[in-house]
Amino acid sequence: MITASQAARLSPPGSDWRTLWREAVTDPRELLEAAGLAHLADQLPADDAGFALRVPRGFLARMRQGDPNDPLLLQVLPQLAELDQVEGFSTDAVGDMAARSAQGVLHKYQGRALLIASGSCAINCRYCFRRHFPYGDEMAAAGQWRKALEHVRADASISELILSGGDPLSLATPKLEELSRGLADIPHVTRLRIHTRLPVVLPERVDDALVDWLAALPLQKVVVLHANHANEFDANVDEACRRLRGAGATLLNQSVLLRGINDDADTLAALSERLFAAGVLPYYLHQLDRVQGAAHFEVDDACALALVEDVRHRLPGYLVPRLVREVGGEASKRPL
Ligand SMILES: *Cc1c(COP(=O)(O)O)cnc(C)c1O
Ligand code: SF4
Repeated sequence: MITASQAARLSPPGSDWRTLWREAVTDPRELLEAAGLAHLADQLPADDAGFALRVPRGFLARMRQGDPNDPLLLQVLPQLAELDQVEGFSTDAVGDMAARSAQGVLHKYQGRALLIASGSCAINCRYCFRRHFPYGDEMAAAGQWRKALEHVRADASISELILSGGDPLSLATPKLEELSRGLADIPHVTRLRIHTRLPVVLPERVDDALVDWLAALPLQKVVVLHANHANEFDANVDEACRRLRGAGATLLNQSVLLRGINDDADTLAALSERLFAAGVLPYYLHQLDRVQGAAHFEVDDACALALVEDVRHRLPGYLVPRLVREVGGEASKRPL
């Protein structure tokens, strides 16, 4: 049996991020063993409940040993509860997402266009709509970049381009450089926003090449991270944040409210404090997308509102995230 810290040591610090990506744990039994929970193997659903386990070893190393309720473990471990069919939780988002990504670009909100730059992620989060949508690996094939950028070029009302996915930083840096060349002759785009979980789950991604690319961009830059719990931060994540800020990016964070993981005021307040210590401001706290297999994570709206109210009483206003839900067809995220 190997422990989480031993597992983390298998890759020396400074390893190439692509190597670390490939070395992610994908076998739930190996994950349980490394977390000191081998005895729970008989509670695993068959076939990972239809959504492969994937967790980088550095993220695994931040889990507490021997704790079946560890908030990082629960974000990635396949559970029997995922097999429950719960009314209102569907795979409908699938068709929706398929249509969206075929287009490559989503222009729902004024002034902002969102580009599905990549379907890949370094980690598979059990609550994510991605569990029902097997994206191709490279959504931003050269042709698709071009098509998406044509749309942006043709609409002068778009001042902000958002790279999303999947995780856009799963693209190799030369691919990102290709994008910035495509943006160079679109003067109405003044901001680039990147929605990514990689600096948190695989901070080695923020390497020299990425920082150089970002720093050289003649645009305002916003990086929206995704962390749900203070324990997701360690010295490597702090360093990744420091480097992103050094490249001129404003750092924000979005979280998903998850039952059993971050649904208490102490945890949410600690997350906000930890984010700020890393130079990141809380932005959104999302109510869960109602995707099949994620019902056990849901927190009802009344509880969610009470939680945020409690956090508001404890923290300065700038450390209180906006509680929102994504509702199809609306002109913005819907505040609760
Ligand atoms: C969430 C989202 C955005 C960004 O919304 P903000 O409120 O500006 O963070 C933009 N486009 C689409 C399609 C989105 O889903
Ligand atoms: S898109 Fe974000 S939430 Fe979904 S699996 Fe990837 S990193 Fe996790």
